[in-house]
Amino acid sequence: MKSLALPPMEYEQVLNECLSGIGSVDLRNLYQSFITEISVAGNQYMSAANCGDYTVLPQTIASRGTDPVVIGSICKSHFIKLYENYLRNSKKPARAIYDRILVSSNGKCPYCGGIGHTSTLDHYLPKANYPQFSVLPINLLPCCKDCNTGKGNLVATAVEDQSLHPYFEQNHFFNEIWVSANVIHGDPIGFEYFVSPPAHWSLIDKRRVVAHFNDFDLSRRFSLEAGVGVGEPKRLRRGYFKNFSPEVFQQILCDGAENSDFLLNGWNRTMYRALSNDDWFLNQEF
Ligand SMILES: [Zn+2]
Repeated sequence: MKSLALPPMEYEQVLNECLSGIGSVDLRNLYQSFITEISVAGNQYMSAANCGDYTVLPQTIASRGTDPVVIGSICKSHFIKLYENYLRNSKKPARAIYDRILVSSNGKCPYCGGIGHTSTLDHYLPKANYPQFSVLPINLLPCCKDCNTGKGNLVATAVEDQSLHPYFEQNHFFNEIWVSANVIHGDPIGFEYFVSPPAHWSLIDKRRVVAHFNDFDLSRRFSLEAGVGVGEPKRLRRGYFKNFSPEVFQQILCDGAENSDFLLNGWNRTMYRALSNDDWFLNQEF
């Protein structure tokens, strides 16, 4: 929904900063002895991202109560601890990196297009299945609580099921319209949001935006936002725009839909597009 610039720090820099917060020499040496292999895994992630196919990356499937080795003699739990105890932990030096990524989207969650305020970091590839990327900066996304909770540990098993990755997607996901809405006539006014990707997109890209919409429950969440947000154009129609013709009011709504402060496929801009095309709404007296 919202594209983000790549985090400006290298994987090894993050690893070294995490390691500097580890008190136990033995534990620090364990990570240190495989730091090259861990970095290679980071390079594999970058290659997969550049191809838009994360399914090629090795998953760790752990049955209950087991702690499989992931890289060298570093187990899954070691990687999870590296994130939880040495990157996220506010008393450790690497927390500055965590916070830098957290504020990189100006408080707006990139998955839902800013409905929610960013309050946590999400692992695009979940650390439960891909522990080797637990502290890889390009796998860490600033995210709102609802998107983080909703996505959980979802893992796409096919390319077309992958939700959008805010660091890596091509421009057409952000500068072409692929979200639409119908106005549900009545009082209160309702909205039905759905994906409407351009016909010339590949089948994979069309399915990916469906996956993104479903993974983050955006149809329902956008409808809830618009159910409240429609109050503003209604209030204007009752007041300042009361005597304008439907045609003039339509133009005003179109201008609202062009408002560059809103994301092209965000709930707000989509709502104005839907209202400007709805004869019932344009002719209503509120
Ligand atoms: Zn969100």
